[in-house]
Amino acid sequence: MSERLYHLKDYTKGELVEVLKGMGEPRFRATQLFKWIYQKGVTDFFRMTDISKLSQRKFDATFMPNSVAIERSEISKDGTTKYLYRLADGKAVEGVLIPDPPRLTLCVSTQVGCRMGCAFCKTAKMGWVRNLSPGEIVDQVCQVNALISPRRKITNIVFMGMGEPLDNLENTLKAIDILGSAEGLQFSHRRLTVSTCGLVDKLNGLGDVTKRFRLAVSLNAADDETRSRLMPINRKFPISRLLEACRAISLRNRERITFEYVLLKDVNDRRKDARALVKLFHGFKVKINLIPFNETEGIPFERPDESTVLAFQKVLLDAHMTAIIRGSRGDDISAACGQLATADVTT
Ligand code: SAH
Repeated sequence: MSERLYHLKDYTKGELVEVLKGMGEPRFRATQLFKWIYQKGVTDFFRMTDISKLSQRKFDATFMPNSVAIERSEISKDGTTKYLYRLADGKAVEGVLIPDPPRLTLCVSTQVGCRMGCAFCKTAKMGWVRNLSPGEIVDQVCQVNALISPRRKITNIVFMGMGEPLDNLENTLKAIDILGSAEGLQFSHRRLTVSTCGLVDKLNGLGDVTKRFRLAVSLNAADDETRSRLMPINRKFPISRLLEACRAISLRNRERITFEYVLLKDVNDRRKDARALVKLFHGFKVKINLIPFNETEGIPFERPDESTVLAFQKVLLDAHMTAIIRGSRGDDISAACGQLATADVTT
């Protein structure tokens, strides 16, 4: 590969100012580069017309403008597209573009594999391979935008692809900073959702998170015994501690934390589970996303039938909770929740 030293998309605007300063460049170059790269989608330094020839050459020799490459895409019957991104070291991650007019949501990955070991998730089966850099997270968005422009543009980003974002917190926060930059893609905190399996120590350290993104928490069970069986992280951070951390997060008017609940047949889909959920959230205004399990090869769970899913939802609705059934998207191409894995994708 190239000898260029720096991945340009790894840098927040502030960091880029410093890097450029070290190269003898003025501050405003960082703004110029951000605008070309993120707003105009131009990655060829020689096409950046307001930058001197000398600097263009310098940048071309120094910066890698792209951090991932889309190698494959697959369209589902329902319009969902799954992408395979190749990374510079030959590893790969997947992502999913979900049209939901007027929104166009990209589900991005934060790690190659995952070490959380959730029993129902395909990514977990790969184990943890490595963290993605900020640029590798940001560039998933840029590459898809480049592919679908000028007709369409990503409006929302969910950090719900492969990996656990809070297990790669520093790079995820940097990526969010870059994606939100006023000189870049300008994603507001309302259009960015980070989903976590519940790393309470990381949650507690986040401070005023809602200024930066919306939070979603994968709960998946209403009692510790079931949750520990499904999600090993629960042995370290049980439900009470998780909810305590969530309650401590200050929310603006009408803002809610979303709790995801994968419905698994005969495991957590009974009425008594729904009633336990109601009790758990007593006095805590939340939004519940019910996700009927997406069946995946090699994973020993089943999807409940529709009447069970509706009965479960009804218990929550009757208790005046907000509960939405998340329609499965892209499951014919293994692009649905819990179906992303690249263990079998080699160069
Ligand atoms: N690690 C983060 C981000 C992944 S999000 C997290 O745990 O939140 C993936 C979402 O899909 C989670 O809510 C998870 O509970 C859900 N999920 C995983 N496997 C699934 C499957 N096979 N069917 C349906 N939902 C699944």
